[in-house]
Amino acid sequence: MAAPWEDVLRDETAVQDAARVAVDAALLAGVLMRTEGEPNASDVVNYAPFTLLPSAVPRALFEQAYAVQQDFNLLVDAISQNKEFLERTLASTIKVDDFIARLFRIYMQVLEEGLAQSVFLGINRSDYMFDCGVDGTPALKQIEINTIAASFGGLTSRTAAVHGQVLKVLGKSKEASRLLPNNPSKGLALGIAKAWELYGSPSAVVMFLVEEVQRNIFDQRCVENELWNRNIRVIRRRFRDVFEKGSLDDARRLYMDGQEVAVVYYREGYVPKNYDQQNWEARLLLERSRAVKCPDIATQLAGTKKVQQELSQPGTLERLLPGRAEAVARIRATFAGLYSLDVGEEGDKIAAMAITDPDRFVLKPQREGGGNNLYGEELRQVLEKIRDSPERTSYILMDKIKPQPAMNYLLRAHSPLQVSECISELGIFGVYVRQGKEMVMNEATGHLLRTKAIEHADGGVAAGVAVLDTPYLV
Ligand code: ADP
Ligand code: MG
Repeated sequence: MAAPWEDVLRDETAVQDAARVAVDAALLAGVLMRTEGEPNASDVVNYAPFTLLPSAVPRALFEQAYAVQQDFNLLVDAISQNKEFLERTLASTIKVDDFIARLFRIYMQVLEEGLAQSVFLGINRSDYMFDCGVDGTPALKQIEINTIAASFGGLTSRTAAVHGQVLKVLGKSKEASRLLPNNPSKGLALGIAKAWELYGSPSAVVMFLVEEVQRNIFDQRCVENELWNRNIRVIRRRFRDVFEKGSLDDARRLYMDGQEVAVVYYREGYVPKNYDQQNWEARLLLERSRAVKCPDIATQLAGTKKVQQELSQPGTLERLLPGRAEAVARIRATFAGLYSLDVGEEGDKIAAMAITDPDRFVLKPQREGGGNNLYGEELRQVLEKIRDSPERTSYILMDKIKPQPAMNYLLRAHSPLQVSECISELGIFGVYVRQGKEMVMNEATGHLLRTKAIEHADGGVAAGVAVLDTPYLV
């Protein structure tokens, strides 16, 4: 899987020169993030971290990931409509995980009242690594699917141009011309626009629900600007604003500051720290409303690690996607080994297996955003402590994916330039819109490659571990 720039990596002068070009090109192209010191102002910004060189990605696996995305869209949508499945799958989890329990309570409450929402919009990102088998052949293995606040669809559309220029500077213009164009944010905006249109109120706005701390605003602005270009009004609000100024009318239409809201696009609300009592109330108000939530709470629950684990059980995919044997086969081919730690003999066996051989596995709680998983010795210690307690059911166990590392430079503001041994994670963005029972849009709309040094087991770009990258197909 080696990229054709091993030669360049050893030429220190060329690398330093290229890095300077790369950083300026990134700033010019808009690969931007606000700073840690001033996360809510754009007076001082910096470049979002990225690799100096594009990373090699096997073409066949890249194509496989695109080819299965519409299947994953259908699957997530099917799960979100299957109360019996969600109830059964999450039953053990909600006994021990307060956050999921709370989301689940809102889900049930909204169903009991009856859904006011009739148009559904899903934006997800399915993430993969390239597992290196014993014979050295890489295989596409899904890490997880993100069904809420999947980010970097904007910034990633700008990295190919930057990497193209770097390659040219390094005398590789032929290779530069082979980098693929990529613009997920455009596809995401098309989905939002479609949902907005089907909602059917031309004066209504799209509301981005955003966090208190907004370092990654430029990524969101990419999607926002695509909507403004289509003459769709966008407002940005926090849970706190919704609590203070949001309201529903008799038909459960959602109003913010007197404006009707057609679509709520969550870039917030996926981790416990996003919620205090008021924010939970705001979430409930949004979920009860007629507005198109992206995602609705059922779809958020469909993205939990526990659901992912249940999907790997024999027969589950077939039941969720009846009559779609080919889609089921494409989906299943991407699954790594996933194991339940539910109370019982089977769970006991799995826990014992992981304690004996911790380096083969990853222990995952029901959390998002990176930095929550446990590996190696820490995995063993934690599992040993909770092996006889129901607490263990708040986790799932997964086979550890072992990709072949490659050398690259990770460019980060205020950090020295040094070569690192790296591995990459490929994400494919999916968008779908459903009106009642009818799917009116179902697409794969672009990709994201993130790369990190191998010494970090975990963590995304926002967590300060991974950096943006561009695939170079080999
Ligand atoms: P999160 O919801 O926090 O993003 P993930 O399941 O994506 O949780 O895990 C976070 C990171 O941990 C991934 O980006 C990847 O680097 C690493 N990781 C997760 N699962 C595995 C696995 N099975 N094998 C190897 N690394 C993994
Ligand atoms: Mg992840």
